[in-house]
Amino acid sequence: MEPNTVSLNDVPGAVGALHDAQVDIFYRPEVSLREGAGRNFSKTPSKPQRFVEHVAAAALAPYVRIRSDFEALENADFERAHTAAYVEAFFAGREPYARSNGLAWSRAFAESVRYTSASLVHAVDGAIANPRRVTLSPTGGFHHARPSGGGGFCTFSGQVIAAVRAYERHGAVGAWVDLDGHFGNSIEDSREFAPVLNQAVPQAVHINPSGTGQRYLESLREGLDRVGEHVLSGAVTYVAFAHGADSHVWDQLRGQCSTAQWLCASQLVYSAIADWSRHLRRPVPVVLALFGGYRDDDPRSVLELHAADLAIALATLGGAPIEYTPVVTRP
Ligand SMILES: [Zn+2]
Repeated sequence: MEPNTVSLNDVPGAVGALHDAQVDIFYRPEVSLREGAGRNFSKTPSKPQRFVEHVAAAALAPYVRIRSDFEALENADFERAHTAAYVEAFFAGREPYARSNGLAWSRAFAESVRYTSASLVHAVDGAIANPRRVTLSPTGGFHHARPSGGGGFCTFSGQVIAAVRAYERHGAVGAWVDLDGHFGNSIEDSREFAPVLNQAVPQAVHINPSGTGQRYLESLREGLDRVGEHVLSGAVTYVAFAHGADSHVWDQLRGQCSTAQWLCASQLVYSAIADWSRHLRRPVPVVLALFGGYRDDDPRSVLELHAADLAIALATLGGAPIEYTPVVTRP
């Protein structure tokens, strides 16, 4: 897909929708790791490219615009959420920091990490600058990192960096809805290191549902009610949402929801945001990320779930006339 080849004029508009029927994906090839990715169990480093190619080949293509107008983050950006010792040692490839994320280190991988966080940082900026336009960072590998090291396939806390930066630059306050199958510890584990995070993402609106199946959906509803109160009062100014595919029941590393429940979770989130936007009579800024998903028997199932989530976003928020039935194979 060529960057910026589809303009909004090409996209069917939706009467009454407050968001555009098109998403901006913050992607450039450096975000993705191709060489050496096969050495790791986690395929998250190569997922940005695979996801972008997947949606470009799908019915979603007309509703997607690629934005490549962003640069890599510098060490100082990472130091918003991490010790200088960790940041410097990781980029130099020094142990024990280089592999504290559980992934093989290479110069190419380290460089890609500068771009994954940059993609999320700029997706947050993009949504704040133009709330009509939902933005997406096709990334993950963030939410288990801690200030002084990586963990669980995660190197740096991209969402912490993006949230702190958005607060410092724009006074923006985010809610984080983390529907990865694993608890996202980065934000809570960073509050002491970066106290500004208490303003940037208040604890009450950092949502990680518990339980499985219907209980998981009930826990999500309760979390969304809490976020809604904050959005409608003006205390929260944007919503970040990552629907990790490892909360799907056939994932190799987790699995809280059947396919129907997983899609229902997407619908609950986007319907809630659409409701809040109607109440406020303006679009609530929305930024999306991918996060986990582990199916080495069929990596395409992971991409299908992420694509289906995006289709629900575009249909529910932007009124895009798309129905997307994901093909998720049984392991
Ligand atoms: Zn996960």
